[in-house]
Amino acid sequence: MPEKTDLIGEGKAKKIYATDDPTKLIFYFKDDATAFNAQKKGSIESKGELNLLISARLFRLLESEGIDTHFIEEKNEREMLVERLEIIPIETVVRNIVCGSLQKRTGHPEGEELVRPIVEFYYKSDELGDPMINDDHCLVFDWATHGELEEIRHQAHAVNTVLKPFMAERGILLVDFKLEFGRTHDGRVLLGDEICPDTCRFWDSKTHKKLDKDRFRHDLGDVEGAYQEIARRVTN
Ligand code: ADP
Ligand code: UDP
Repeated sequence: MPEKTDLIGEGKAKKIYATDDPTKLIFYFKDDATAFNAQKKGSIESKGELNLLISARLFRLLESEGIDTHFIEEKNEREMLVERLEIIPIETVVRNIVCGSLQKRTGHPEGEELVRPIVEFYYKSDELGDPMINDDHCLVFDWATHGELEEIRHQAHAVNTVLKPFMAERGILLVDFKLEFGRTHDGRVLLGDEICPDTCRFWDSKTHKKLDKDRFRHDLGDVEGAYQEIARRVTN
């Protein structure tokens, strides 16, 4: 199995290492937490381990349901081996329930169930604050081809179709989530990055208690407890 070589990048939540196989990377999951485009910074105890545990479980689930992802295996409690991708600079958000920026943009109340899922695209740019974009922006600025956008939209819906009932069986509402896709060396569009309480909104089905990064964003307390609760339920 590929071994870690040089540190080649560091994002807000993960360190990225090259390996002795040029087609594979190793992610190191950090405890650092940021919100509001990194204006709010902090740390959540054990977040790296919990996010890796949750992401690995959910990537395995997707693979078992026929959705290919970059996930290969866990190396240890903090590190994950993945296929190296050329990341497409689009953050794809899937929504089932009104919350966050959708509430602000539409005035619809938090918690309103959508008649069908909404897929949105945001331009992945920290400097610009990840602005919302549409297909034309992606095509005109060459961020993705028409075929790639179709593939991303198709996969985003497929991920939602698998994750929503899986979480529901564990007493969790999948409110919304963010995905990142990239190109493999042989030109396929593959799901990348992570799927965890940093990138998804999870609510307890009965109480609607928030069990995700909103606890950190809005100082709701017991952030680590929420991540632990999600880890416990998804690995059950
Ligand atoms: P950010 O600061 O963007 O939130 P992270 O700390 O999560 O980033 O670091 C992960 C980085 O690696 C992100 O820029 C993400 O787009 C990128 N990435 C995710 N999956 C892959 C992959 N399989 N290959 C290459 N880059 C990836
Ligand atoms: N999200 C993310 N990274 C971002 C922006 C959003 O992972 O840079 C996730 C967020 O956790 C939520 C979903 O995408 O699950 C939708 O977020 P929204 O647009 O409502 O943004 P926010 O309210 O966080 O500004």
